[in-house]
Amino acid sequence: MTGGRDPLDWIDPELARLDAEHLRRRLIAREGALGPVIRVGGRDYVNFAANDYLALAADSRLGDAARRAIAEEGWGAGASPLIVGRSAAHERLERRIAEFEGTEAALVFASGYAANVGAIAALVGRRDAVFSDELNHASIVDGCRLSRAAVHIYPHADWRALEQQLRAGAHVDESLRDSNSRLGETRPRGGGRRLIVTDSLFSMHGDFAPLPELARLAETYDCMLLIDEAHATGVIGPRGRGVAELQGVEDRIHVRVGTLSKALGCHGGFVAGSRRLIDWLINAARLYIFSTAGPPAGAAAAAAALDIVEAEPYRRLRLLEMADRLRSRLREHGWDTGPSQSQIVPIFVGDSAAALRLAADLREKGLWVPAIRPPTVPRGQACLRVSLSYGHTEEMIDRLCKALGKVKATDASGA
Ligand SMILES: *Cc1c(COP(=O)(O)O)cnc(C)c1O
Repeated sequence: MTGGRDPLDWIDPELARLDAEHLRRRLIAREGALGPVIRVGGRDYVNFAANDYLALAADSRLGDAARRAIAEEGWGAGASPLIVGRSAAHERLERRIAEFEGTEAALVFASGYAANVGAIAALVGRRDAVFSDELNHASIVDGCRLSRAAVHIYPHADWRALEQQLRAGAHVDESLRDSNSRLGETRPRGGGRRLIVTDSLFSMHGDFAPLPELARLAETYDCMLLIDEAHATGVIGPRGRGVAELQGVEDRIHVRVGTLSKALGCHGGFVAGSRRLIDWLINAARLYIFSTAGPPAGAAAAAAALDIVEAEPYRRLRLLEMADRLRSRLREHGWDTGPSQSQIVPIFVGDSAAALRLAADLREKGLWVPAIRPPTVPRGQACLRVSLSYGHTEEMIDRLCKALGKVKATDASGA
């Protein structure tokens, strides 16, 4: 650069503003494996921050499966799945996911993020409408935006408000159904399609979507229903298939999105559903078509993780029992754990600065609990987010409860 202004100069005041508002994010790097204890900067912390709910991320059986696949197939996939990137390991995993989910078929994406964006943008287009919960994950929000469909946001879990929106928009212009979308792009032709989309287990507050009500609305108002089970796959439901299984509505969900990267301890995302749904996504989901397939060894590890989820249900049972006990103990201490019904337990604090202070206080005591701030949550709703793992011991949870109990006691004494 020759003297003049650097076109990136605007970044410094923006970062300074984030600093001043206690909203600036910074990276850290762990040392060693992810587990119930993590090492950061040479110090050990009890890890209440990961999504490794079943403690599988460092399970040797996943590594063994990956090593066997590397020996057979090498590391890189080398091409997008539709060219030559899809290997026997990917095919096995997709069959394995469909079997686990009880669906006709499944399709593996590079991530859960890619699965949501890819599926939503392939299902609705410019002349269609999406109805989306206000607390849906960023990947759903981005999928809605990319689709260019009209997006209707409904208040969190408020199916009555959703029904009003559906009613108000109930008159679809039938003439749109036959008109062509732009040539040369594989998008749904015509228009007037409607899609209801929701997280099944909300990632910040740990509560469930009212899936039976949403399924009823989808049926009444002729909508597709997509649910994102990212935090629920492997954890919730009698067989660990998710909230739809728990709430008994699996056969009323048209599109199931899940991730391999949370409870399954691997990496990648998937869509599960009918054969024709998957056939359509193979032809229309740009995030699937124009992106290199993941390493086959990753697919082999994910298939091994599904075997463990099926063979070892005690992992999820113990996890959810621990969450129940943690919630009641925190409430006894006077903390607000909001609507949590799962292994994700928020502790509501209020403003960002207070949340950061509390997180720093816990960190000093060797407890790693992330503060969740805007824009991840609405302003004024900053919280600490405790996520439990099968790997946590009673003693670890006890330490967390005692530390938080002490903070409340100090608050109450006016200090
Ligand atoms: C984490 C998450 C995703 C993204 O999954 P990745 O595999 O991490 O990309 C999608 N949806 C929800 C609700 C999530 O919490």
